[in-house]
Amino acid sequence: MLIYDLDLPSLESVLEEWNEPAYRAKQIWQGLYQRLYSTPEQFSSLPSSLRDRMARQFTFTPFTIRTYLDSSDKSTRKTLFQLPDGNLIESVLMRYGDPADERENTSARGTKQRRTLCISTQAGCAMGCVFCATGQLGFKRNLSSGEIVAQVIYYAQMLKEQGEKVSNVVFMGMGEPFHNYEHVMSAIDRLNDADGYKLGARRMTISTVGLVPQIRRFADEQRQVNLAISLHAADDDERLAIMPVNKRYKIDEVIEACKYYIEKTHRRVTFEWALINGINDTPDVAQKLAARLQGLLCHVNAIPLNPTQGYHGEATDRQRAQKFVDTLEQAGIPCTIRMRRGIDINAGCGQLAGGESQKKL
Ligand code: SAH
Ligand code: SF4
Repeated sequence: MLIYDLDLPSLESVLEEWNEPAYRAKQIWQGLYQRLYSTPEQFSSLPSSLRDRMARQFTFTPFTIRTYLDSSDKSTRKTLFQLPDGNLIESVLMRYGDPADERENTSARGTKQRRTLCISTQAGCAMGCVFCATGQLGFKRNLSSGEIVAQVIYYAQMLKEQGEKVSNVVFMGMGEPFHNYEHVMSAIDRLNDADGYKLGARRMTISTVGLVPQIRRFADEQRQVNLAISLHAADDDERLAIMPVNKRYKIDEVIEACKYYIEKTHRRVTFEWALINGINDTPDVAQKLAARLQGLLCHVNAIPLNPTQGYHGEATDRQRAQKFVDTLEQAGIPCTIRMRRGIDINAGCGQLAGGESQKKL
């Protein structure tokens, strides 16, 4: 059993079954999420018989490191993990705001140091967006809540050695978080827990392809987690050509669900926009998008496409990207461009895992 799959009440009931005093569960919990112990031996305040039992019954490391890559400027590390069933997932650490950080980042967050993790929620993805390396892989399986949490803990342990913490988590790695709703929410609860890692809900962001019922459910739950919607097109036919999900949920329905979310939570929605040369980056498209988003508490996050093997589209160049942003801004829609980081290490979601499985063929 993967220990990170347990919430505190489940851990308590396991320990009760083992006839251990109730306070042991909290002790183990704090060891896992505050002291970031990675092996049973490190729990030195526990009796050795309990440590032995933990070693026999629990798994502490749900994956092996298949490979990792640092970007040339060392700001970005991508790790490819192999799960026990052979599936591959990846997570990326991005360091922002260091004194030497001169990379382009037009967001208004200033220079505060951030350690942002981009983590996976599924092995592969069923949504089939044509420009996405994970979509090109197809769906393998959902990750358990513990497999999601363990990606954060892995990097948290690494950062701790340098006296640092994970400051933000974005669910923008492989997979569609709202297609694995329950496990993602329990992972969020575990990371957020006041006796655990204490990562603030506002420091987490879920990005979804736009699954309407789940957006509404998420709104009803009134979570403080940020919401991003991958839109990428302002017209249903154009969206359908690159995102099969648009057959099921049209842009209007997605935007209606976003309105509902904003009414319920008073929180701003982010729309993700991968700029594809000549496809969705013209001033005309920007105008259409602005018309659709008028009056909505939102902002657009534009990122030039990260080219992938299975899709012929190209990234928009800097000049065209700027023109797109300017057009949106003039129409009253706040917009930022994020120039892709870690492009030299294939940091786009699913790209490393895609490359590996192609090598195996
Ligand atoms: N499934 C979720 C979250 C994972 S994808 C979603 O689709 O929102 C995270 C983000 O990366 C999404 O906005 C997605 O559209 C974007 N993305 C995927 N492939 C990309 C690529 N090749 N270039 C740029 N952005 C990409
Ligand atoms: Fe899945 Fe998101 Fe990739 Fe689309 S962009 S295939 S939803 S991971």
